Amino acid sequence: MGNMNFDVITLFPKAFELINNLGVITRALEKNLINVNLYDLRQYGEGSYRQVDDKPYGGGSGMVLKPEPIYKAHDSIKKLPSSKTLLMTPQGKVLKQQDLLRWSSLDQLVIICGQYEGFDERVRCLADEEISIGDYVLSGGEIPAISIINGLTRLLPGTLGDPGSLIDESHNSSLLEYPHYTRPLIFKEMEVPDILVSGNHEEIKLWRKQKMLERTFERRNDLISNKGYKKLPKSKRIKEDLNEMMKFRIGNGYDIHRLVESRKLIIGGVKLQHPDNLGLDGHSDADVLSHSIMDALLGALSLGDIGKYFPPSDQKWKNADSLFLLSKVINLVRKEGWEVNNIDSVIVAERPKIKPYIELMKNNISNTLKIEASFIGIKATTNEKLGPEGREEGISCHSVVLLERKE
Ligand code: SAH
Repeated sequence: MGNMNFDVITLFPKAFELINNLGVITRALEKNLINVNLYDLRQYGEGSYRQVDDKPYGGGSGMVLKPEPIYKAHDSIKKLPSSKTLLMTPQGKVLKQQDLLRWSSLDQLVIICGQYEGFDERVRCLADEEISIGDYVLSGGEIPAISIINGLTRLLPGTLGDPGSLIDESHNSSLLEYPHYTRPLIFKEMEVPDILVSGNHEEIKLWRKQKMLERTFERRNDLISNKGYKKLPKSKRIKEDLNEMMKFRIGNGYDIHRLVESRKLIIGGVKLQHPDNLGLDGHSDADVLSHSIMDALLGALSLGDIGKYFPPSDQKWKNADSLFLLSKVINLVRKEGWEVNNIDSVIVAERPKIKPYIELMKNNISNTLKIEASFIGIKATTNEKLGPEGREEGISCHSVVLLERKE
């Protein structure tokens, strides 16, 4: 008995000859670290033809593996104290490194390989777990089974020459592994990064961690779940790099202006008529919608607020058209390498009714930012006569934007 016993039910036992020529796995077999027993499904077939498959009830193409031979084969396998039965099926849970680690402490894995159109549904009852090796369909479960035997064996103590090589590699953490280089130093004009030949082990360690992050972000962003994020290295430099690689940034902006006489009422670049002829007071045109969007854009990139770029002390911005200011802010955002994903704003005003002007406002914002109107949400609400907006002392606006890093 090895450290791990694989008992495989298959119609094609010969397929497993491959493991006699697989380096590490073959050595593990020779050292008795693993044991692979093959159960030829044909031997458990019925009648003189040893029938193992039959036509599907209800019609349809292809043949289906009958349940009896598989049950018979499964029953004939002596089960060790800690044992699991895995059913190879493209409908199963997609295999992850974590599964291999989890199973590596068992005594035994019984693996059932399907063929043809698959197996009779009642075979599923035998399985502790149904496993797929990826979202594609192979003709049989043998290659999936060999993949599991292979991936699991190399985790067993005594199999790999250098157990350290298991620690860093892809999929052990939630990050992909860093790039490897070996001699020669220059190959086809491609050079080994200087840092790897510097002899500075601290710097090399840091470089590798950084590369792991970069690779994972570039290739497998999906691996960085919230759980994975917590496991990321604590180094400040790496945290900063990580921040630079973030694909999205969110920003929120708020603005309020006082309602006064003898001023225009401009919101989202649209001139509105207040029933009492009031308008918004401010240094520029006091367009609360454009202002709150600008603040949200700047906020998303931690660039401060509009006061910093268009200070009221500067005569240049007196009565300025806020859409013009907005066009300057969006240029800055794009220069920093970001694009607007979407915007959502809410205007808080007791009067006049905002709704009839919303489409016009959207158009103006859309033209100024050069993004489609369908990515801009503008809503309006009253404040139920409460607070400064409710008492018609002012009109305010809240905006949220989501920015996406440009490729
Ligand atoms: N018609 C079946 C697929 C049959 S493929 C279905 O749609 O579910 C034949 C056999 O190959 C399966 O029974 C299974 O044992 C094996 N197989 C094919 N693709 C696989 C995959 N991605 N992972 C695990 N086993 C697979």
